[in-house]
Amino acid sequence: MHVLSRDDYVRYSRQLLVTEMDEVKQQALSHAEVVIVGLGGLGCAVAPYLAGAGVGRLRLVDGDEVALSNLPRQPLYAEQDIGETKARVACLRLRDINRTLSVQCYATRLVESNAESLLNGASVVLDCTDNMASRQLINQVCYQLGVPLISGAASGTKGQLLMLHPHRAHGCYRCLYEPEQSEPNTCLAQGILGPVVGIVGMMQALHTLLFITSIAPLNWGELRLFDGFSGQWQALKLPPLEGCPVCGEHNANYS
Ligand SMILES: [Zn+2]
Repeated sequence: MHVLSRDDYVRYSRQLLVTEMDEVKQQALSHAEVVIVGLGGLGCAVAPYLAGAGVGRLRLVDGDEVALSNLPRQPLYAEQDIGETKARVACLRLRDINRTLSVQCYATRLVESNAESLLNGASVVLDCTDNMASRQLINQVCYQLGVPLISGAASGTKGQLLMLHPHRAHGCYRCLYEPEQSEPNTCLAQGILGPVVGIVGMMQALHTLLFITSIAPLNWGELRLFDGFSGQWQALKLPPLEGCPVCGEHNANYS
C-alpha cells in the first residue's frame, strides 16, 4: 500500500533514494511535531531543512523582530522584513517552501509561564536560543515533559551541539552550566561568523531527521564542539552531575 501522495514521491524523491530511507520513515516525518525555540542564526538554518524534509508540524517560538544586524546569518529574512516579528516572517517563508505542512508561529519569548504549553507534545525540541535563562528553562521543561532536546550554540568561530534524552542516563544542560553562570559564548559579546552558526543549526536539523526516522542511533548525552578554523568536531560525553536538580531523579530512574 502506498502511503505517500504522488506529489510527495516527487517532492521527497531525493531523500527517499537514500538507502536507509523509505516511505514509512518519510511518513514518520510527516507525523512528527518539532518545536524550534529561537529563530536567529540557528533557527534560520534548522527550520527550512525540516520544512523541506517534510516534518509535518513545526512550532516556531521567538519574540524578537528582524533587525539589520541579523541579515548576515539569518537567511530566512530580507531587508523588507526589518521590524517585522521573526516568527511571523519565518512562518510565511516556511509555508512557501512546503505548503503541505502545519507551521504555527508564536511571536513570544519562552518564559516560565508559557514554557510547558509551548513544548508539550513535541517529538523533539530544538534549542536555538542565545541566552542562559532560556537554555536552562528549556532543559528543565524538556526533562519534566520527557521530551528529547537538541541544543545548539555558536559564537565567534566556535559552535556547540548537545543532544539530551530525558529517558537516558547522562548529564543535562544544568549539569554543564550553573544557571548563574553567564553564557560562555554570546554573539553579542564575541561576534559570530554566519556560516559557523549555520553549520551548528544544520547539525541540529540532521540529527532531528535521524532521530525521527530512526535511520541512525543518536549519541545522546554527547557534547560536540566545533572549531570553525580547523573545521573539526570534538565529541565529549556529558556525565550527570551528582544531585543535579533537573536530571538527578531521571538518572536515578534510568541508570
Ligand atoms: Zn543535569
